[in-house]
Amino acid sequence: MTALEDWDDGPFRPEAVTVRVPAKINLSLSVGPLRPDGYHELVTVFHAVSLYDEVIARAARGLSLTVDPLRRDSDVSGVPEDERNLAWQAALLLAEHARVEPDVRLTIRKDIPVAGGMAGGSADAAATLVACDRLWGTGLPRDELHELAARLGSDVPFALHGGTAIGTGRGEHISPVLAAAGLQWVIAVLDAGLSTPKVFETCDMQRRRDSLPIPEPDVHPDLMTTLRSGDAERIGAALYNDLQPAAIELLPEIGELLETGRAAGAAGALVSGSGPTTVFLVDGPVSAGEVEERLRTSGLCRTVRRARGPVSGTQVSNVR
Ligand code: ATP
Repeated sequence: MTALEDWDDGPFRPEAVTVRVPAKINLSLSVGPLRPDGYHELVTVFHAVSLYDEVIARAARGLSLTVDPLRRDSDVSGVPEDERNLAWQAALLLAEHARVEPDVRLTIRKDIPVAGGMAGGSADAAATLVACDRLWGTGLPRDELHELAARLGSDVPFALHGGTAIGTGRGEHISPVLAAAGLQWVIAVLDAGLSTPKVFETCDMQRRRDSLPIPEPDVHPDLMTTLRSGDAERIGAALYNDLQPAAIELLPEIGELLETGRAAGAAGALVSGSGPTTVFLVDGPVSAGEVEERLRTSGLCRTVRRARGPVSGTQVSNVR
């Protein structure tokens, strides 16, 4: 027996794998007609920003899940710790697909604002796929992980991917976009909530009521060009969201908040996705401080955070 064979006692099985995953915002959202399956055809530009959740997958018997705040002020209220959690569903799906037992103790350390339209649940599901794949040694190729991610939800594939990317279909088909690094954002999550189906319904209703044409969903070429330039003022002017008028009609405070950020010097102000999160592109730390302060003191927000983008998608940060 050679010295190497002496050491070979099977593949290394870690005890614990930690994966870090970012939140997303939408730099544009173009909404087409309602499809027969009840969804709208969408084209969006996703952008991963530096607010993170962490998922730790530990070797165990059976499946269990706990949710903890990552920072002292992270809010985790309302996040289920059972099969309703998308991370739990991700572990089950991978186990079934790879024909292994779903033996894992999952800990989600949350910092992504809950129910803010920043796809925190989807991020946790993506991180769980990557963490369990490593823990169980199932070693799925990237395209298979992507396919499982798309089955879990339309925002899950982007969380694997990160960066800046165009999402089509319901958002689940991803193609990367060239974007300058180091954009700075202030992100405000409103105190009040908004139901995603209600926002889409209101958008359809406004289009009928105001006899607006229903566009073929697309990305404006202006946004693509300015994203490469990295010029905050130009990018700020090119951000758009077809759902914004509907979100403002349902929750007029959103309009007030966008105005507050613009008046404080933001280069761009936009509702992200179906809201109620609003995002403000700023031109440097001084402007970020001013915008952050004015949003905080508006009394309208549950959370105000600074972030930069684009950042990478799921990343294994520790294996032991
Ligand atoms: P969307 O992906 O629709 O944009 P969101 O970002 O607005 O969702 P999430 O933070 O993902 O909101 O949570 C929405 C709801 O999903 C929560 O109120 C919670 O009940 C449920 N949920 C399930 N799994 C998770 C999870 N891992 N993290 C947060 N919420 C979860």
